[in-house]
Amino acid sequence: KNFGIDKAFKELGLEHENKGTSVGTDFFANGETIESYSPVDGALIGKVQATTEADYQKTIETAHKGFLEWRKWTAPARGEVVRQFNDELRRLKEPLGKLVSYEMGKSYQEGLGEVQEMIDICDFAVGLSRQLHGLTMHSERPGHRMYEQWHPLGVVGIISAFNFPVAVWSWNTALAWVCGDACVWKGSEKTPLTSVACQKIAARVFEKNNVPAGVSSLITGDYKVGELMTNDKRIPLVSATGSIRMGKIVAQAVAKRLGKSLLELGGNNAIIVTPDADIKNTVIGAVFGAVGTCGQRCTSTRRLIIHDSIYDKVKNAIVDAYKQIKIGNPLDENNHVGPLIDQDAVKNYQHALEKVEAEGGKVLVEGGVLEGEGYESGCYVKPAIAEAENHFEIVQHETFAPVLYIMKYSGDVENALELQNGVVQGLSSAIMTNNLREAEKFLSAEGSDCGIANVNIGTSGAEIGGAFGGEKETGGGRESGSDAWKVYMRRQTNTINYTTELPLAQGIKFDL
Ligand code: NAD
Repeated sequence: KNFGIDKAFKELGLEHENKGTSVGTDFFANGETIESYSPVDGALIGKVQATTEADYQKTIETAHKGFLEWRKWTAPARGEVVRQFNDELRRLKEPLGKLVSYEMGKSYQEGLGEVQEMIDICDFAVGLSRQLHGLTMHSERPGHRMYEQWHPLGVVGIISAFNFPVAVWSWNTALAWVCGDACVWKGSEKTPLTSVACQKIAARVFEKNNVPAGVSSLITGDYKVGELMTNDKRIPLVSATGSIRMGKIVAQAVAKRLGKSLLELGGNNAIIVTPDADIKNTVIGAVFGAVGTCGQRCTSTRRLIIHDSIYDKVKNAIVDAYKQIKIGNPLDENNHVGPLIDQDAVKNYQHALEKVEAEGGKVLVEGGVLEGEGYESGCYVKPAIAEAENHFEIVQHETFAPVLYIMKYSGDVENALELQNGVVQGLSSAIMTNNLREAEKFLSAEGSDCGIANVNIGTSGAEIGGAFGGEKETGGGRESGSDAWKVYMRRQTNTINYTTELPLAQGIKFDL
């Protein structure tokens, strides 16, 4: 009846009641109980006991002790542990993907895709464990050698959002572990079971390899548990993924103690559709971007900026495509769109639709909450489209739901860029065009101001090989590929004098 979730629970070693604090295979917790309900069918999936302050103190002390040992392991030896962890992810891909789908509400395919991202970043991290390169420089002083090294940083705190309940953790941990750090993870209170499942997988592999306790640690709870980390001087880096509202609070708390924060916050992503766009691909990219994961991706397409010469054509094609969207149980692969995460998200969605009309927008595809058989959780909504203007207050905010705002531009691509960049967020962006000049302008310094800029693909869906993140109020952080690993390490510049003299830099003389 519940889509094989019992079997997945068993394979992942989950109980109905679970402890939400862990410093390895030792799971404990003394806080309140969080009940996790599935947005798929409204059922109570299981319970997780939250972390108290005393549990937290024990966790951080253990993580810190674990770090002092772990940093002495060679990076390739740490990589070997990540490789074995990855073997377990491959083995458990289906049950973990199913749990992600059932607890968060994304489609089973996307649940599997999220676990695949974990697998991919672990592969990347294993290779990286032999490539934590520093530069060598030529010293201005004779008989001196100068170079830089990257050392482990310490205990890394990870705060993650509900919509990517497992991938974001692994983007951080897989890199931080090979870099020699201990990780303490607070997942979203909306998806606590996936957090416990992941920690169980890591803990088993780590114990088998005699990794010190605390190198992979879990704490559970709401923002109050997160605040223990942001205020904690023993945590040199807090990596936080979630809303801009949260990021502003976290950034200030961490900055107050001069710690580092890595922020991955909300987006307000647009696709520019120029007169030279391929309409068929534009429709696929825009519809998937707007309704996939029920509009709950940080890279979901929120705005379509269409040239006036093709506006009606594109608009009609997209409105037509929306008629074919099947909404329902995300574990049924025939459906395109599953539920929103909870009733609060439904309220935000309804509010957005009311507000866009109140501001003068025109609804082209009606929204609404679905009722009746299969929709008992009350979290299923119809993807909607509204014609709107970029300056509307509601358009300027990220609506974390399947509401797509479409608007016109005229003249050159510069006018579209002005609209696209005219929001406070700067995560993902795309242009649909076969015109080289437009594409290159979009990618140039005068073009998109986002961390991600795509040509002829939509805004959502990134690969782990590139650095992921965005500018402006999206927070400026970068995770995953390229040289994102550097944030998890501390850089040290070393100068060695192999002469019998002591020459000073800048030619300064200091004779005694
Ligand atoms: P949220 O901000 O409500 O919560 C995110 C996490 O922050 C949760 O674990 C929460 O407990 C914690 N938190 C909240 N307030 C805190 C505080 N004061 N101190 C410490 N921790 C605190 O976000 P959400 O609803 O879970 O996720 C949706 C948001 O996340 C969207 O805005 C989305 O765009 C964003 N997101 C961004 C990225 C990215 O990579 N840029 C990825 C995924 C999601």
